[in-house]
Amino acid sequence: MNAPLSSIPVLRERGQREVFCGLTGIVWLHRKVQDAFFLVVGSRTCAHLIQSAAGVMIFAEPRFATAIIDERDLAGLADANDELDRVVTQLLARRPDIRLLFLVGSCPSEVIKLDLSRAAERLNKQMWPQTRVLNYSGSGIETTFTQGEDACLAAWIPVLSESPGDAAAELMVVGSLPDIVEDQLRRQFAAMGIPKVVFFPPRRSTETVHVGSNTRFLLAQPFLSETARLLEARGAQRIPALFPFGAEGTAAWLAAAGKSFGIDESVCIEASAAAMSRAQRALAPFKEELQGKKVFFFPDSQLEIPLARFLSRELGMVLTEVGTPYLHKTHLAEELAVLPPDVQLSEGQDVERQIDRCRASQPDLVVCGLGLANPFESEGMATKWSIELVFSPVHGFEQAADLAELFARPLRRRQRLKI
Ligand code: SF4
Repeated sequence: MNAPLSSIPVLRERGQREVFCGLTGIVWLHRKVQDAFFLVVGSRTCAHLIQSAAGVMIFAEPRFATAIIDERDLAGLADANDELDRVVTQLLARRPDIRLLFLVGSCPSEVIKLDLSRAAERLNKQMWPQTRVLNYSGSGIETTFTQGEDACLAAWIPVLSESPGDAAAELMVVGSLPDIVEDQLRRQFAAMGIPKVVFFPPRRSTETVHVGSNTRFLLAQPFLSETARLLEARGAQRIPALFPFGAEGTAAWLAAAGKSFGIDESVCIEASAAAMSRAQRALAPFKEELQGKKVFFFPDSQLEIPLARFLSRELGMVLTEVGTPYLHKTHLAEELAVLPPDVQLSEGQDVERQIDRCRASQPDLVVCGLGLANPFESEGMATKWSIELVFSPVHGFEQAADLAELFARPLRRRQRLKI
């Protein structure tokens, strides 16, 4: 059962925002789904963004690229659809290992009104069953960077196969997780007595993922609202839970799954006990270091509320303001229920006003996007880039101390600079 919706007041702002676009999601999605390819249909700016965000390409063959829309396309002098068909045909002829191709829309493709859903449909007819072609938008118009994953998974859901009518209840974990974290969680579920767990997205797009009324899903990430809506539309039931950040969050997330499968609470506690106490021991020195320190969250990754809960409840940090781009009160009901009741929550952004509030509250640590971090550092404030929290393995018991370390490190660095 869901926790009651929170009555904590929320400051809603709709002004200038400082966020990355949804293309950023390709950075972690291309690592996760090993036979997928992400073809951005965009400008040189889009190409630079993902190339620099993804860093050094460590694969023999890349798993993303940009089909550049140039001046001729923008002026309507060339048929962008013909160009796109040519690029995709060439790519798939050279790379038969690609089994799932995403055409990823961008601001420029939206500006010239290139209909990528029709392009994907057309190309899918030609390429299926060797390669499935889907599309989603990673454009920066009215989005924040984690919405790229939500849009990608949402595009995938309609082609997941239907569960057989008489299938037993099955657990699906939704949200891209590093393989190492996925393996740890799989072991935890098995120890609780839930042997069959499907992770979505899977490591290979050809793995069968069923969905239907027997599917119960746990969100691993708090930014998957459209994905969750579409799963529910196909009959799946969301398991309400805290998100698996920190020892407390992970234990509660696992226990919620156990409860949904009728597993006795004592069995869940017993199965998690060793990993939970390891995590608590590893967190203890960070608590000493971070207790009483003030933290201010700018809205960026949509992880802000679960992370604020972790910092406040497990490390004793003081929350000055917790900003988030979008606040999904139902998906976050369990999180909001355990936040300090006097916390200042904000949704959306009016960046200048928020900067003023941040300076006035004099936090020890500011969690924000890259664009704000350098100016704050030059003012003498310690900052944490929120994007790093999405790129790093931070879910689960074994990563709880690594997550705390991500917040402790900038404070130590600032301390050293003062000496
Ligand atoms: S999609 Fe838009 S915001 Fe993102 S890099 Fe391309 S032009 Fe910039």
